Amino acid sequence: MKKLLQEFKEFISRGNVLDMAVGVVIASAFTAVVNAAVSGLVTPIIGLFIPNSTFAEWAPGGFAIGAFVNAVITFLITAAVIFLVMKVVNAARNAKKKPEEPAAPTTKTCPYCLSDDVKIGATKCPHCASELPKEE
Ligand SMILES: [Zn+2]
Repeated sequence: MKKLLQEFKEFISRGNVLDMAVGVVIASAFTAVVNAAVSGLVTPIIGLFIPNSTFAEWAPGGFAIGAFVNAVITFLITAAVIFLVMKVVNAARNAKKKPEEPAAPTTKTCPYCLSDDVKIGATKCPHCASELPKEE
């Protein structure tokens, strides 16, 4: 039991749980916003074409088609926005990961003894004392 508590404490303090909790809270708040936008702005427009009823309450023959379409539109908008957010986040991540340009070389290889720590611009090899060809 003590071990279980210890593991739980580690799980909580890892930070993933907090990130997750923040994500869930933001997601539910966001869903409420989208839901209000859809049922308050989008479906009333469709409702204009349905006589004697608002679209959200439209339920011909007892089938709650209005509420269902509301939910579908809400889902599509939410999914599209999350897709865009993921695209932006991934792009930012990839941009960070880009490897830096390799530094310009400061040494060259002697063509006679093949030592590779000869300084750029040297005219004589420090290892075999050969005259080095001029660099372009
Ligand atoms: Zn050399």
